Amino acid sequence: MPANNDDNKRMPYQYPRPEDAPLDIIVPQAIPDDERVWVPQSEGVDFRPLCLHVSQGYWVSLLRVRKSGVLSRHRHSSPVHGMVLKGRWRYLEHEWVATEGSYVYEPPGETHTLVVDDDVDEMITLFQVNGVMNYVDPWGNLTGFDDVFTKIDMCRKHYEACGLGREYVDQFIR
Ligand code: FE
Repeated sequence: MPANNDDNKRMPYQYPRPEDAPLDIIVPQAIPDDERVWVPQSEGVDFRPLCLHVSQGYWVSLLRVRKSGVLSRHRHSSPVHGMVLKGRWRYLEHEWVATEGSYVYEPPGETHTLVVDDDVDEMITLFQVNGVMNYVDPWGNLTGFDDVFTKIDMCRKHYEACGLGREYVDQFIR
């Protein structure tokens, strides 16, 4: 082992990456200029995939909302990390408001109802969602779900329909 001294501070790591490590992902325009990159989720709600991790069962994406009102009520099986890049939103079940620049942690077991208020034209939030999002009614009865596989499916269908091609999503899958 060479000594850890100033002489090699700027020297890159000298060995190859582990053979079985997945490839890195770099998305230069995470908020894209090309509107087709946004995948419609529902009226006024779109997501932009960044990392769709099939072997660990999570996805990282931007959620963009351009309508106000109740978006979804859902229960999380696993933790969620979020960072609000633009606009503001809140959950009916909590006092706090996720404002621009906020970091949000949603613990496993949490059920909440996402609301965007009328005076917000657009909100964009980066989310890492692990496991399953179960959509529920106010009493917890299941009405649907999303996981990394339903997200990939939505991406493929949309990218095929808009002309980017169903394989456009492959670059985000690990
Ligand atoms: Fe949530």
